[in-house]
Amino acid sequence: MENYDVCVIGAGYGGATVAALLARAGLKVALVEKTARAGGKTQTTERKGYKFEMFGAVGIPAHNSRFHELVDTLGIADQAPFIVPEGNAASVRYKSPEGEWRTMYAPLVPTGDPREMEELKRVYGVDDDDLAALGELYEAVLSLDEQQLEALDDVGMLEWMGQFSLPAALQSQICMNLNTLFVVSVSRLAASEAILTMRDQVMGGAGRYHIGGYGRVAECCADYVTEHGGLYLTKQRVRRIIVEQGRAVGVETDAGDIRARAVISNAGIQPTVLALTGREHFDADYIARIESLEPSWSIAGFRYVLDKRIFDAALIPIFSDQSWLDDERFAAMEEGVWPDVPLIAIDVPSEFDPGLSDIPGHQLANCQMFCSADPGSPMGEEAIRRGEAVIDELWPELKNHILRKEPYGAKQISSMSRDSVLPGCGGEAVGLAQVVGQVGKSKPAARTPLPGLYIVGCDAGGRGAGTHQAVDSGFNVAAMVEADLGVG
Ligand SMILES: Cc1cc2nc3c(=O)[nH]c(=O)nc-3n(C[C@H](O)[C@H](O)[C@H](O)COP(=O)(O)OP(=O)(O)OC[C@H]3O[C@@H](n4cnc5c(N)ncnc54)[C@H](O)[C@@H]3O)c2cc1C
Repeated sequence: MENYDVCVIGAGYGGATVAALLARAGLKVALVEKTARAGGKTQTTERKGYKFEMFGAVGIPAHNSRFHELVDTLGIADQAPFIVPEGNAASVRYKSPEGEWRTMYAPLVPTGDPREMEELKRVYGVDDDDLAALGELYEAVLSLDEQQLEALDDVGMLEWMGQFSLPAALQSQICMNLNTLFVVSVSRLAASEAILTMRDQVMGGAGRYHIGGYGRVAECCADYVTEHGGLYLTKQRVRRIIVEQGRAVGVETDAGDIRARAVISNAGIQPTVLALTGREHFDADYIARIESLEPSWSIAGFRYVLDKRIFDAALIPIFSDQSWLDDERFAAMEEGVWPDVPLIAIDVPSEFDPGLSDIPGHQLANCQMFCSADPGSPMGEEAIRRGEAVIDELWPELKNHILRKEPYGAKQISSMSRDSVLPGCGGEAVGLAQVVGQVGKSKPAARTPLPGLYIVGCDAGGRGAGTHQAVDSGFNVAAMVEADLGVG
């Protein structure tokens, strides 16, 4: 049995970040990952001749992100260079109320070019007054101070947006963007979280990618741990967190026990508390709170390898005014009543980094639809069926160029990231839902009531969209653990 300062369970972006930062601070770190690679839900894998994103692949914000801070702090920027495509790398496909498909090409980082406004008018059928209302909304997004934002922890985004009286098409565009970023209902998405990320998008754009694969930065963080005297185990599941005299003191794995002064879990707050540690180590109120937490929704989709370039952009959202999701619309879908166009987000990693495929001209794409986080739900299969029909309508030649097609959904996401320990949970795409009652002061603390046990990743300790939140949490939890262990 070896002794470490810190044992981190899971090398998703939260776990990999905190492990590397604590190794940098001079602590002896063990990082234990159950899959073959670091990156968690944004893991990059390799197949014959090409690299492949398992799930997510787009960083928001593109510039000035916590990822930039991370690679600069660790001095690893040259190992995982970032790329943000120039030009019109996004192509929006909007189905108008008249049933006409309209396409708008746009840059990933806003340029302020007046032609972008003209395009909004053409595609969404809006006028100058409508754009003025949109301008007012963005003015508020950029100008709210910290106190005003904190008050919006308790306000749903749809309600907050109501004051700007946007026309349906512009409301649809904002709501579909927020659904895609947070994978929750826009009626309960906390306005504070939405506004902070919209601010990030305005200032830094959307669409950072990492050369070699989006998971590359997590892999570099894991390597950083071993290069700084630590241990990085892959294909090694933590079975149990060891508790002695009311304190977390290590973990149990098939390869043996690892003892540590602090245990930091990236395995999800519910699996960590309810399964890995055990209810008996917490009081009844805390257990009730953990059981009541709501996960984000999941994503079902398919990854394509295509033998030619079919998609003409790196990011392609597809939607109509009926596609964006609040609680009512999502509940209807669960009951089998779907919109004319299910909300679809296509990422095309090979448009960011053509080097992902050894064979020039091949295209790698990921088509994503929204569904329940329950790994046993049939909703993902229906989402895939309906999404595929829309993609077939828009790109009829695609079906003749498929080299490989891999469907996935909540079940696969759960097996690659967190266990399902409560009904309806496990396959969540993001982590804890960033809804009213679960953000800001109401978010579970990263420091659990069990001394020595911390949570990192999208369930505690951070803010932002997806991986950005996980890395933010990694920074914040590293500072917390350093302080608790008396480092520095
Ligand atoms: C289809 C899809 C698309 C997405 N698109 C994007 C996107 O474009 N941009 C973006 O920013 N975000 C995206 N996201 C969300 C983003 O991937 C997640 O929010 C983020 O990666 C979560 O990071 P995390 O650190 O909280 O945990 P996870 O990524 O869930 O990592 C947890 C890690 O812990 C490991 N683990 C769990 N239990 C154990 C155990 N017992 N022992 C050892 N190891 C264990 C897991 O194997 C995993 O590596 C997407 C998610 C999905 C599913």
